[in-house]
Amino acid sequence: MKKSINAHDSVLSLIGDTPLVKLSNITASMKGNYFAKIEAFNPGHSSKDRIALYIIEQAEKKGILKPGDTIIETTSGNTGFSIAMVSILKGYECILAVSSKSSSDKIDMLKTMGAKVYVCPAHVKADDPRSYYEVAKRLHSEIKDSVYINQYFNELNIEAHYNTTGPEIWNQTNGQITHLVACSGTGGTISGTARFLKEQNPNIKVIGIDAYGSVIQKYHQTREFDSDEIYPYRIEGLGKNLIPTATDFDAIDAFIKVTDEDSAHTARELAKTEGLFVGYTSGAAMQGLKQLEEDGVFDTTSNIVVIFPDHGSRYMSKIYSNDWMEKQGFFDSSRHEVESIQYI
Ligand code: PMP
Repeated sequence: MKKSINAHDSVLSLIGDTPLVKLSNITASMKGNYFAKIEAFNPGHSSKDRIALYIIEQAEKKGILKPGDTIIETTSGNTGFSIAMVSILKGYECILAVSSKSSSDKIDMLKTMGAKVYVCPAHVKADDPRSYYEVAKRLHSEIKDSVYINQYFNELNIEAHYNTTGPEIWNQTNGQITHLVACSGTGGTISGTARFLKEQNPNIKVIGIDAYGSVIQKYHQTREFDSDEIYPYRIEGLGKNLIPTATDFDAIDAFIKVTDEDSAHTARELAKTEGLFVGYTSGAAMQGLKQLEEDGVFDTTSNIVVIFPDHGSRYMSKIYSNDWMEKQGFFDSSRHEVESIQYI
């Protein structure tokens, strides 16, 4: 009998089932046991592969998408990359409206994956015709046979994580998880994962990471939209200037805020201490863990799972560039790093 060849049909079957890795060094002085879910192990290097595949396959099942149709989305980069990747393999056109805050690396990657990209100004209101929301809506109305993923307002975003990320973490921890800490952008990751985990054990505490300059934490506390909270910040993919319906605020116990500066340094520290080369929001999530631990939220019996959403290679021209850090004023005298390149 001929032996079969052990290969995946395409990269699509590599989506999900990402590893959980114990954090030992960066947490050495912190109470509790810390585990990171490394979403960069998805083939598109972020958690967004999960929602791209899930939402597209749900649309196919409902007969809304046929080969040759166009998929449109607003994205800070990662969702766009994932949709472009899935579109190539499934034969769809992909159009992406992105924020001008996205790194040039991210925009070049989207083009490499065959997407048509519209770069829209970052600091305009969500209802401004130039905002990436409005541009995507307009393109959707103009292009026949197009589907708008609309990740901020799509319940399937939550469902994707309810069906995959939640069960994976429950199984990987053998049900021993006590705390989930995750960034909240659309809120899909934290909400879907939290819903699943709390169904298994309602005592699990779920804490979201928000940015200074975002309305999310205040909305969670008051259920009111406070535009005074909004001002520009640098982290991409975290926090928001609107309230996404893809966030289930009832599934989340609390939000804490982290600064651009601390998050950038903590991402760099993860590389140097754990050998983990992860993105800016992973630094934000780790920074959130440090603050929570200082606030006495964890004890020695806590099993804390933190989600690291994407890979560090997407931020070479930002947090991993000393020039960029210097320009932001993130290197003060206490934090200046010694140049470690030697020219022979
Ligand atoms: N980190 C990064 C880098 C992201 O792109 C996103 C998505 N905007 C998030 C975190 C937050 O994930 P979610 O949208 O599921 O809340």
